[in-house]
Amino acid sequence: MIEQQLNEVLRRIETACSHCGRDTKDITLIAVSKTKPLSMLEKVYALGIRNFGENKVQEIMDKKPQMPQDSQFHMIGHLQRNKVRQVLKHVQWIHSVDSVALAEQIQAEAIKTGQLVNILLEVNVAKEASKYGFFPEDLMQAVGQIGKLSQLRIGGLMTIAPFVVNSEENRPIFKKLYQLSVDIKSKNIDNVSMSVLSMGMSGDYEVAIQEGATMIRVGTSIFGTR
Ligand SMILES: *Cc1c(COP(=O)(O)O)cnc(C)c1O
Repeated sequence: MIEQQLNEVLRRIETACSHCGRDTKDITLIAVSKTKPLSMLEKVYALGIRNFGENKVQEIMDKKPQMPQDSQFHMIGHLQRNKVRQVLKHVQWIHSVDSVALAEQIQAEAIKTGQLVNILLEVNVAKEASKYGFFPEDLMQAVGQIGKLSQLRIGGLMTIAPFVVNSEENRPIFKKLYQLSVDIKSKNIDNVSMSVLSMGMSGDYEVAIQEGATMIRVGTSIFGTR
């Protein structure tokens, strides 16, 4: 069941890439395994998946040590400042840096361990009240402040697009995130690269790929409903 679903996702990624002249190697599929048991992660690992997305620190701490060494975990949910210390040693990327205060907390903890932390800045493109993230107009100032933090590497941007029935409705959201990354890149700020665009979920990852996504976060289409 999972194998067929994963194969379908991989097939659709290929089709989306071929429609816009992109290479599938430039897309990282993050299997969003939140709420799912370890056995399911092991199953997709055996099928070649190495990147896992989780939104709770406790789940990352439970699962990561039990998975093969080369599994990479991505924190994709809102991160509370008092949980930063615990999560840092288990994640390759934090996608959900949504405030300067959180970035400063990550910096403080990373100094203690000498770690360099890969982060993405979460942008609330659609300005939904229910979502976290910087508003587009506040982003540049945040990049300036966070870019100065020595242990942090801003790799790009992340957004969670609104829930829509027709994925085309989210195309402007993805275009906007891409444009923001181009604007930031043009400023050539030290410690700030814009090579990652984390956007697209089960309902809209094909549109996101067409608009420049380099990481897509897919849960339901691989593992089934939660
Ligand atoms: C749950 C979640 C996903 C995956 O959503 P699906 O619709 O199940 O693919 C992606 N990104 C974030 C931030 C999530 O919380």
